[in-house]
Amino acid sequence: RPVVGVLALQGDVREHAAALERAGARAVGVRRVSELEAVEGLVLPGGESTTIDKLLRLFELAEPLHRLIGQGLPVFGSCAGMILLADRIEGGTADQRTLGGMDVTVRRNAFGRQVDSFEADLDMSGVSDGPEPGPVRTAFIRAPWIERAGPQVEVLARIPAVSAHGTPTGAAAGKIVAARQGRLLATAFHPEITGDARVHGLFVRLVQASRRG
Ligand code: GLN
Repeated sequence: RPVVGVLALQGDVREHAAALERAGARAVGVRRVSELEAVEGLVLPGGESTTIDKLLRLFELAEPLHRLIGQGLPVFGSCAGMILLADRIEGGTADQRTLGGMDVTVRRNAFGRQVDSFEADLDMSGVSDGPEPGPVRTAFIRAPWIERAGPQVEVLARIPAVSAHGTPTGAAAGKIVAARQGRLLATAFHPEITGDARVHGLFVRLVQASRRG
């Protein structure tokens, strides 16, 4: 079983750990550099990206993690985690930084305020067309979306143009909400709180594939 860390500075660490275990990994919390260096992949959970950014710097994890991402560490960022993986942010605070790695521009709090949180069924490629087919039950909580993605980025899911199964309309239509670039996977939504471990399964397979070089 691959050892996959969950960054445990803020956010719903336990739910990610449970989903990783269900997906066949051994999940461990990561708070220090020594723990970071021992994992084969890492999940960046949701929470508040500005807070996680500050804590990453305070715990002196930002620089080593940035370096490991550059060296090919597989990382899955959900919601605030997706913001941390983005090379560029819109709607960030003045001193907010990201780890970067994905050639995307994310818009923070893109769907609106907390009251605009929602659940929806979405088709995600690599999951909905995988061994257990079907749409993913997703939860969006003050979620970002990807405004623009570079040519290396593979789009895995979008908000459909026409509202279906709980998806919002208006400016959200067509926005990218799941993407992959090499060993980096990002979702605007939380797949860990709806009981669907298939997105974590996709990530665990990515970790296993990177083991083989
Ligand atoms: N709105 C949060 C941020 O900007 C993300 C919310 C989440 O992770 N659920 O960091």
